Amino acid sequence: MHSVPGVSRGPTLATPGNQPARASMKASQFYISTLREAPADAEVVSHQLMTRAGMIKKLGAGIYSYMPLGLRVNHKVEAIVREEMNRAGAVELTMPVVQPAELWQETGRFDKMGAELLRIKDRHGRDFVVQPTSEEVITDIARQDLRSYKQLPRNLYQIQTKFRDERRPRFGLMRGREFIMKDAYSFDRDQAAAKASYQVMATAYRRIFDRFGLTYRAVAADSGAIGGDLSEEFQVIAATGEDAIVYCPSSDYAANLEKAEALAPAGPRPAAVQTLSRTPTPGKSTCADVALLLGVPLVGTVKSLVLATEELGAAGEIVKTRIWLLLLRGDHDMNEVKVSKVAGLDGGFRFATGAEIEAHFGCKAGYLGPIGLKQPVTVVADREVAVMADWICGANEVDFHLTGVNWGRDLPEPELVADLRNVAEGDASPDGKGVLAIERGIEVGHVFYLGTKYSRAMNATFLGEDGKPAFFEMGCYGIGITRLPAAAIEQNHDERGIIWPDAIAPFAVVICPIGMDRSADVKAAAEKLHDQLRDNGVDVLLDDRGERPGAMFADWELIGVPHRVVISDRGLKDGQLEYQHRRDSAPTKVAVSDVFAFVTGRLAIA
Ligand code: ATP
Ligand code: MG
Repeated sequence: MHSVPGVSRGPTLATPGNQPARASMKASQFYISTLREAPADAEVVSHQLMTRAGMIKKLGAGIYSYMPLGLRVNHKVEAIVREEMNRAGAVELTMPVVQPAELWQETGRFDKMGAELLRIKDRHGRDFVVQPTSEEVITDIARQDLRSYKQLPRNLYQIQTKFRDERRPRFGLMRGREFIMKDAYSFDRDQAAAKASYQVMATAYRRIFDRFGLTYRAVAADSGAIGGDLSEEFQVIAATGEDAIVYCPSSDYAANLEKAEALAPAGPRPAAVQTLSRTPTPGKSTCADVALLLGVPLVGTVKSLVLATEELGAAGEIVKTRIWLLLLRGDHDMNEVKVSKVAGLDGGFRFATGAEIEAHFGCKAGYLGPIGLKQPVTVVADREVAVMADWICGANEVDFHLTGVNWGRDLPEPELVADLRNVAEGDASPDGKGVLAIERGIEVGHVFYLGTKYSRAMNATFLGEDGKPAFFEMGCYGIGITRLPAAAIEQNHDERGIIWPDAIAPFAVVICPIGMDRSADVKAAAEKLHDQLRDNGVDVLLDDRGERPGAMFADWELIGVPHRVVISDRGLKDGQLEYQHRRDSAPTKVAVSDVFAFVTGRLAIA
C-alpha cells in the first residue's frame, strides 16, 4: 500500500464492537455466489468485482440488492460510522423514506429540485417524495421539539435509504439511484456555536475515515452562497475517481477543483512590444490550432466564451438579456462555480445562443474576441488574461485572428477581472507554500455548514437567551455508506479481485481446509482454529464447501478476504499450516501451535 504525503491512512485494527454476534460461520451455511464473468454493463472495476464476488445484484438501473456478502460490508461501514457519530455526541433517529410534499414545498425544493427528486402520489392523489436527503423533515422535527437555546446544540443523524433519480446512474453502487447514506444535521443557537459543531463533525469524519483503513484526503469544497470555509469533502483517492482533487505536496493545502483558487500572477503586465495585426487563420477556430499555425505557444492565446443573463419581469417574462464575454488563456478551462460568483452572473447564466453571438460579434463562434463588437458586451477577464501582453484572439471575422493585442492600447482595460478558471498542475498553491498537483478521488463524505437556509424557509425558531425567537443555525453531514465499499475496491484490488482493509472486510479471516471430508485431522484443526478465532471476536469464516483448492482460493481472492489460512494433511504431518495475506505473493508456514497468535498478530498490524 502506498502512502501519499499529507494523507491520513488509518490503522486496520480489527475493532472490537465492530464484530457480529459469535455464531459459527461456515461457507456451506452462508451464501457464496461468485461469477466468472462481469456483466456487460459494468464499466468500472468496483462494479465488476462487486457483482462477480456476489456482493450486489442488479434489479434495475441504479437499483441493487445487497447480497449477504455485500450486506456484511455495509454493516461494518455503518458500525464504524455509528460508533464515531455517537462518540461525537450525535444521536441516531430514523426519518421516513416517503415524505409528504408539503414540507418540500415550504423550502421550494419540491419544484426546484428537478427530475432527481422522485415524486409519487398516494391513493388520494396527494403528493409525496422519496427522500433524496432529509433537511425538511429534520427541520420540521427541530421546530416542534427544540424550543429553547437550553436544548442546543443538537446533532441528529440517520442511516437510511435514499433515492435520487440520477441522470446517469452508473458504476454500480458508486452512483446508484437507491443507496444508503448516513445524514446528520446539527442545530445551534448562533454562528459561533454552529462552527464549533461543524468542527466536531470534521474531526469525527477524520476518525471515521482513518478507521476505514483507506487512503483519503479531506479537501476544501465550495460552500455555495454562504461563503467561508466550512465545507469539506472526504475523498477516497483512486485513479478512477470522478473528482479532481487539487493539493500541494509541500503543504497541507487540499481542495476540490471547483474550489481551488487560481492566484493572480505575480508581477506586473509586461510592456506591449508587438503591433496589433489582423492575421489570416483559415479554418483554425480553436486556440490550439491557431497557436500551431502561427508557431506560437498556446499560452499566448486567449479564448472567448460568451454567456447570457436574463432580467425577469414581474410575470416572469424576460425584460432584458445581457451578453457577457469571458476571456481565458487558451490552455485554461472555465470553472462554472467560480463564474457563478462573479457579480452579475451570480443570479444564474447560460451560454449565449448562435443568434445572440451573431448579433453582438457579427461573427460565429471560433473567431470571437473583444475588439470590433457590433453591440456592447460585458467583458470579464480571467486574472491571468488581465496581465497578458501581445496576445492573440479572434478578430470577429471568420478565418481571421488578431495578434499583438494589448489592454489599454487596443481595447479598454477589462471591466471585471476575476478568477474564472480551473487551476492546473504546477500553478502556485494558494497558501504560497509550493505548487499544485492534481489527483483523482471519489467523494464519500461531505461536511457542510448550512447557516439558516432551511430554518428561515421553514420558520424554525427557538427562544434565545434574550427571550427572543431566533432561527436555528444548521449544518449537514453526509457519508455514502454504499458508495464507500465501491470506493474501497477502486482503491484496493488486483487482477484476482478485491483486497479489503480489515475494518470493512466481509470476513477478516477465511480458513480453507483441503480435503476436509477425507481427513478427520484437517477437519478438527480447521474447526478448532475457527472456534478459537470466533471466540476471540475475530470475524472468521470456515470454507467447508468441499471445493477443490484452486476454485476455493479463486473465490476468496475474488471476494477479497484479507487473511487466509490453508490447512492440509500434508502440512499437518509437519505440524504446520499456511498463512497468506491477500497482498502477500506467497504463503508463510506457521506451526499449528502458533497459528492463533500469528493470525491475530497479523490482524492487529496488517
Ligand atoms: P455527487 O456530487 O457525487 O452527486 P452529492 O454532492 O450529490 O454527490 P451529497 O448530497 O453531499 O452528495 O450526499 C452525501 C453523500 O452521499 C455523498 O458524499 C456520496 O458519498 C453519497 N451519494 C450521493 N449521491 C449518491 C449516489 N447517487 N449513489 C451513491 N452514493 C451517493
Ligand atoms: Mg449528486
